[in-house]
Amino acid sequence: MRIFISSLYTETNTLSPIPTGLRAFEEYGLIRDASRRHDVPAAVPLGEIRRLAQACGDEVIEGLSASAQPAGKTVRAAYEKLREAILVDLRAAQEVAPLDMILLALHGAMVADGYDDCEGDLIAHVRAIAPAAVIGVQLDLHCHLTDAMVRDSDVIIAVKEYPHIDMAERAHELFHICRRTVLGEINPVAALVATHMIGAYPTFDAPMSGIVGNLRAAEARSSILTASIAHGFAWADVPEVGTKVLVYADADLPAAMNEAGALSKQIYDAREELLPRYPDIAASLDRATALSGLVVLGDFADNPGGGAAGDSTYFLRELLARGIRNAVVGCFWDPVAVEFCAEAGIGAMLEIRLGGKCGVASGEPIDLTVQVLGLREHHDQGCFGFRQQLGRAVWIRSQGIDIAVCSVRSQVFDPDAFTGLGISLESRRLIVVKSSAHYQARFSEIADHLWHVRTPGAMSLDFAAIPYLKRDGNYFPRVQDPWALLGRPEPRTFVRRRALA
Ligand SMILES: [Zn+2]
Repeated sequence: MRIFISSLYTETNTLSPIPTGLRAFEEYGLIRDASRRHDVPAAVPLGEIRRLAQACGDEVIEGLSASAQPAGKTVRAAYEKLREAILVDLRAAQEVAPLDMILLALHGAMVADGYDDCEGDLIAHVRAIAPAAVIGVQLDLHCHLTDAMVRDSDVIIAVKEYPHIDMAERAHELFHICRRTVLGEINPVAALVATHMIGAYPTFDAPMSGIVGNLRAAEARSSILTASIAHGFAWADVPEVGTKVLVYADADLPAAMNEAGALSKQIYDAREELLPRYPDIAASLDRATALSGLVVLGDFADNPGGGAAGDSTYFLRELLARGIRNAVVGCFWDPVAVEFCAEAGIGAMLEIRLGGKCGVASGEPIDLTVQVLGLREHHDQGCFGFRQQLGRAVWIRSQGIDIAVCSVRSQVFDPDAFTGLGISLESRRLIVVKSSAHYQARFSEIADHLWHVRTPGAMSLDFAAIPYLKRDGNYFPRVQDPWALLGRPEPRTFVRRRALA
């Protein structure tokens, strides 16, 4: 088989003040060897697909992969240039001999100026070039999963877990379902249900952990090929934002519709329980100081992985005001502060203005006297099987608080974001990380207590108040019972011509 692989990966927070231009993608490299790398998100799914294809004796043709840290809208010219680069690679491969399979690792919530649905647009262009190929797409579960994406592809699979620990597992599944489709062994048909809900649902905790269990159980039933819950990405003003369920069955549309309907009802029935009831900063610190052992807290709203700047000062300001010592905080994204500290050198004492620079969501900057204790020119951290770059980074200390500051923006995934700079996490009382949920996968291994904190910032958890202009207001939690208002949502069905043959 001839298999084309490629990746375009960013999550767009249309409320973020940070534009996503070509430079944001160049920071991670515009590369054609993502499947052989260890430092880009596409390395995990595309690497898995390459391994599987080689084991089957298939030919892999790898096109461009580009990824950017989540931020605001992608600049139109940047999206169009990246799309064209992928399509040029695809046309060249298709001209040599028709492709059997095209497997794309996409995010699913990329928005550019003039394009509310970049992935839907890209998949349509891919389909136009290779009308007979089986197109398989792996998505992040924080995707919009639009009708356009499902219509022009054969199989879409979103990761099931948040933290996204199952990227390789999903790629494995996508490869085999698509390969069996090429061989004519199966005919995937799809049912998609929009739940009329908007939210955020980490899967390590109840009730979402149980719902993911039910999702896996549904896949074990006869004729069901794969099922995904697209949690959606709330901080994007696009018409189709929201939580959805997508089920593929083997030439069995009623089965796909039944499972999609049943799973969407389970999520809907749990909607009150699924609302995030995280304590705020003050309540979290009251509780943390009363506990013994290591407490790890996630600064939910200043998560660069959701398009926030990563330089908000609300949490640090409260730690300083309370005189809390023996704490570790990070990673601040503040390239100017990194430059000043790196220039001063290890051991230097200096006054810096930290954070609070990117917009109103960042809060006010904090003026601090700090000592520089660590410096790394190319810092990085573990991230679900690849290495996430953090750029030039420093470890600074002020008033008994150790702070990691980086120059490449990223949420904290792994304790080595700190230990890699020399910050010891032994005998600590408190670690505060800029991340919404992904940190939970690795930090739960060292924490005695861990929870997400409702913080001010670019990712407000008040879903009823997100100022959508393009999406209507008929969603939970803005409306208590949208199904009563709109009727129970009907599954939309998708049958490709191949499946009818
Ligand atoms: Zn995600």
